[in-house]
Amino acid sequence: MQFSRRWWEESPLLERGGASYTDRPTRRVIYPSYGIGKSSGTIIVSYTTSQDALRLGSLAGGKGTHAEERLKDVILKDLADMHHGIVSVETLRSLLVDYDVWSWYNHENSAGAFAEFAPAQFRDLYPKVTTPPGGILHFGGEATSVHHAWVLGALNSAYRCVKEILLSDIRRKELIAKLEELWGLDSELTTELVTNQVIVGQNPSEFKFVFKPTGSLDGVKVQPRIPKRLAMLLLIGHHSDPDSG
Ligand SMILES: Cc1cc2nc3c(=O)[nH]c(=O)nc-3n(C[C@H](O)[C@H](O)[C@H](O)COP(=O)(O)OP(=O)(O)OC[C@H]3O[C@@H](n4cnc5c(N)ncnc54)[C@H](O)[C@@H]3O)c2cc1C
Repeated sequence: MQFSRRWWEESPLLERGGASYTDRPTRRVIYPSYGIGKSSGTIIVSYTTSQDALRLGSLAGGKGTHAEERLKDVILKDLADMHHGIVSVETLRSLLVDYDVWSWYNHENSAGAFAEFAPAQFRDLYPKVTTPPGGILHFGGEATSVHHAWVLGALNSAYRCVKEILLSDIRRKELIAKLEELWGLDSELTTELVTNQVIVGQNPSEFKFVFKPTGSLDGVKVQPRIPKRLAMLLLIGHHSDPDSG
């Protein structure tokens, strides 16, 4: 919400950056740490996730709709209650310049904000989404990383995908050293584990996944049912044609 006065910076609040939390529907208010002291300002008045986001998001009907007017009322009331005795709903309404609502669930290309695995999904799902089927289909994105909801997860997964592609092609293997030199060693899966995942992707019936939490992030282990040396031969054999992918 944009307000004509930065009321949150005034005494006694002195909110200059940071966030407030509440058990009301609004959940989280995030104050800007830039533009301090200027006249007008914009704050994230409600940052919600999971079921809270679904509930508030159901009121995101577009500006001027009855639903969104109700949403605005809920937020302004929560803001006033959170800053009880300092700013009233009426004052907030008079200071309000504009607002924007964004519901990640309602957007056709996101259908949600980010991944958040339920219990056991790191054991059951993570090894599968980090396996390239046939060694040619590579899944990237923060959902395929251990760092859900962070740009770091997206970057790590991109790094893994590049490594998978290089490992899948015998003629490009020397580029792995260059990748590691330029971008460092990945913090999620070691080269050995990525290699195993590529092998599993190429020969799904020959291998099984074994998850052994190690206390570190690289807890995914893949156990071949056939000797490792034969597995390496299979890997090389599959990619004798570098254009097959
Ligand atoms: C509200 C919010 C706050 C966040 N805050 C932070 C933060 O403070 N710090 C941080 O590090 N991370 C934050 N994140 C997480 C971070 O933004 C994501 O983890 C990261 O952007 C994910 O990158 P990605 O490339 O995996 O996916 P995305 O950035 O989601 O990219 C996927 C792309 O695919 C497109 N797409 C989807 N389907 C199709 C289709 N069928 N055809 C064509 N295109 C399609 C989408 O439009 C999108 O552009 C936040 C995320 C949200 C939602």
